[in-house]
Amino acid sequence: MANYDSIEYATYLLKHEKKQNKGEKGRDSERLKTYQAEWMFQRQVDCQNFKSIEEAQRCAKLIYKTKTWQKLWRESVDGNVLKILDATPAVVAMSNRNKTQSGFTNGRTVTLAVSGLNKYTLLHELAHCLGHMHHGRSFRQCLLKLVGVFMGAEEKNILKNEFKRKGLACGNARKPLSYDKWLEAKKRMEKIRK
Ligand SMILES: [Zn+2]
Repeated sequence: MANYDSIEYATYLLKHEKKQNKGEKGRDSERLKTYQAEWMFQRQVDCQNFKSIEEAQRCAKLIYKTKTWQKLWRESVDGNVLKILDATPAVVAMSNRNKTQSGFTNGRTVTLAVSGLNKYTLLHELAHCLGHMHHGRSFRQCLLKLVGVFMGAEEKNILKNEFKRKGLACGNARKPLSYDKWLEAKKRMEKIRK
């Protein structure tokens, strides 16, 4: 019985970890809600528009020189040594045939739509490049840091608030229950079911 419980507890730990950062290991299930929060955010702030892809490239280059970028990039390397190659992601223009996306990235190159180019879209894609190839908690935390430094504290607060309104967690991940606490909770649940 103790053995069976420990297997069940291990399963609980895996599920808990997955829930803390959706998209990292499972389906990117918070993507749509993240987009919706971002649309609301962009309606409330004045975002720097880029007139050309060259202007976006210049902005990215300035970002790469900052301490904030260097720090976040080093953290991403701690999580995945391959990120050592991605200190300065290239920024390129999207083909005109793609009319549905404002930007996308493979983590190494950021591709931006030429119409409606703005700083926020660039920051969104750069947050992906920093080791968060999804829209879960760690992505949002990283994006909030970028927005706070490269757009402003007020902008960061507005975005954080929109994430909250959508029920998207941005704080630190919750710790799982200890084995004893988990066992207690499980017994309580079993009693309720009976
Ligand atoms: Zn994205």
